[in-house]
Amino acid sequence: MSADISKTQLDSSVISNEPSLEQLNQLKQRISQYDYAYYVKDNPIVSDAEYDQCYQALSKIERAHPEWITEDSPTQRVGGQPIDHFKSRPHAVPMFSLSNAFTQDDLVSFDRKVREKYALLPEDSAIEYAAEPKIDGLAINIRYEHGKLIYAATRGDGVVGEDVTHNIRTLRSVPLQLLGEGWPSVLEVRGEVFMSKATFNMLNEKAIASGDKPFANPRNAAAGTLRQLDPSIAAQRNLSLFLYGWGEISENNTLPKQYHQVIEQFSQWGLPTNSDASVVQGVQGMADYYDSLYEKRTTLPYEIDGIVYKVDDISRHKVLGFTAKSPRWAIARKFPAEEVWTTLHDIEIQVGRTGALTPVARLQPVLVGGVMVANATLHNLDEIRRKDIRIGDTVVVRRAGDVIPEVVTPVLTKRPDEVRLFEMPTQCPECGSEVMKEHDKAVYRCSGGLFCPAQRKRALQHFVSRKALDIQGLGNKLIDQLIEKGWVKHPDDLFKLSPESLETLERMAKKSALKVCDAIEASKQTTLPRFIYALGIPEVGEVTAKSLAQHFVTLDKIRQAEKEALIDVPDVGEIVADNIVTFFKQPHNQEVIAGLLAEGVSWPDPKTITVDEDSPFAGKVVVLTGTLQSGSRTEAKQKLEALGAKMTGSVSAKTDFVIAGDKAGSKRTKAEALGVTVLSEEEWIAMMGETNG
Ligand code: NAD
Repeated sequence: MSADISKTQLDSSVISNEPSLEQLNQLKQRISQYDYAYYVKDNPIVSDAEYDQCYQALSKIERAHPEWITEDSPTQRVGGQPIDHFKSRPHAVPMFSLSNAFTQDDLVSFDRKVREKYALLPEDSAIEYAAEPKIDGLAINIRYEHGKLIYAATRGDGVVGEDVTHNIRTLRSVPLQLLGEGWPSVLEVRGEVFMSKATFNMLNEKAIASGDKPFANPRNAAAGTLRQLDPSIAAQRNLSLFLYGWGEISENNTLPKQYHQVIEQFSQWGLPTNSDASVVQGVQGMADYYDSLYEKRTTLPYEIDGIVYKVDDISRHKVLGFTAKSPRWAIARKFPAEEVWTTLHDIEIQVGRTGALTPVARLQPVLVGGVMVANATLHNLDEIRRKDIRIGDTVVVRRAGDVIPEVVTPVLTKRPDEVRLFEMPTQCPECGSEVMKEHDKAVYRCSGGLFCPAQRKRALQHFVSRKALDIQGLGNKLIDQLIEKGWVKHPDDLFKLSPESLETLERMAKKSALKVCDAIEASKQTTLPRFIYALGIPEVGEVTAKSLAQHFVTLDKIRQAEKEALIDVPDVGEIVADNIVTFFKQPHNQEVIAGLLAEGVSWPDPKTITVDEDSPFAGKVVVLTGTLQSGSRTEAKQKLEALGAKMTGSVSAKTDFVIAGDKAGSKRTKAEALGVTVLSEEEWIAMMGETNG
């Protein structure tokens, strides 16, 4: 098999058993390009996962052909070239990288090698390792002389770094003068500069809001910040630091003998260290620490990409020594990548139970956080536009813990020429009904209501509910079964159910099946307001349904009403009027209504109220509020309706009277503010008296 290393996704297994020098050179060239973008430009052009795959492929070839290893190979060098606009700082002691372990087996073999060097026998006790979260930031060397901060430099290529003292001095956690006493006259401490998740999110939100490019991840944000010439930027960006090592130290012998004790000593001198670090025993201890930190990963305030294990006994570090790039006494156990890059093939629509349309990304399947992911949420259209995600883009996909995978951002540097803008469909992909955008909200909704299969369950629950057709015994579980069996697609199908079929369902005895069927039959005799409410027209609640019935008197008139006529109804504004018109326009809804009527759903002829022309309440919009002394609100409502009043629940400019009983609150205040006449209970009774008399 010949390996195709020009492919984006690359696996070390594709490197054949007979790799060629050409393959090796191509890989070296590619990795050098990636290193330059990542270390020098702080702007990676591939994901870390993909970088690691290339790197492993290169290492595999070099292991098979050690004679091909050259000094300029990325496996023999640390990091990237220092940028020339910073002063160079040669490191007194080189700064190394770490070798990686991707599996527990890799750790077992690391431990075995350490034990071999120690000449330990299998029965000898476990090695002690210091275990630390591997924070995704960048390494820094800070030099103190006589307790005073002299300079700070990045790792650079490991031999020469960039002087970033001006920025490091802005970190509040970094002492300019060490605390306590007993520090060696020259003390170089090393650690990771990073940006907390909270700061990173805030920074990116600000960047997006002001139209700037967001940072790809906290590591790039930290690196980009540290390499600013103007220290006021670093001062604003709230970088953090944890120390985990050292460089040149005079009077070395004054320090403790265990690694973790040295770190404790640093802490006593006022240097920031990580309290999540621990000391563990052997391979089992490493595995336990991995499990517990992996579980905690999403709750940590900083981003980590693994764990670093270090032999705790410092005297052994010399024995174990270094490779060209990393110490043999330490290893980084990488976590599965939580963020990966992949291709966004398409954006499809999922219709939720409330009819809300959610765009879902269809991705080239990739492993994210150890799980294969092919779909990810895109939230809504506004979010897609805000992030400028286009179909065909390479996108960053993130899956943290058990969280649903999401598309974080497009990778603009990889945008192909042919990308497509996503548009929301104008018709529901499930049922073909018109799609409506909710005013002032990012939500798009299918107007299919009763017809749309995705909305059926919810619509049916609403249809049978107490204030609608009030069908007793038809709970959610039973509805789920009816829909899953395909027996009920629309509410009119309920009236076709027989006790014999119901009896065959889970947890349905003969008696309860009969009861449900009786309740269904009884519900056929209803009222027009209940029927309108049961249809589930968006934002048409019980009160609006009643107002509509009162105003138009028949279903046909409501169905045929134009927007302007609907707006005349108390409680109906522009949005609700639009919803009503759209609902009745849908042929599917018309079919369902016809089906219900054909099944015998009916209501008594509306009483045409003979309004006493002289009644002060005839045709007036009235709101009742507070506690009445003369009787219940329901009775008062009936009396007023009998006089031709249109009763509504909320106060608006259309309201004619607000009748305020005891403890009337916000409705009274609103009426007063709008200049609506507020009647006390006595005034109202007096006006009624005039009418009756
Ligand atoms: P590394 O990040 O894998 O490990 C070494 C670094 O870990 C140290 O230099 C230090 O900065 C850091 N670290 C964090 N906590 C530590 C601790 N407790 N003790 C010691 N060190 C700690 O190695 P690297 O050489 O900095 O970078 C290589 C990795 O960077 C790759 O595996 C890849 O994931 C990523 N990378 C990505 C791209 C890209 O294009 N996407 C390019 C280059 C490198």
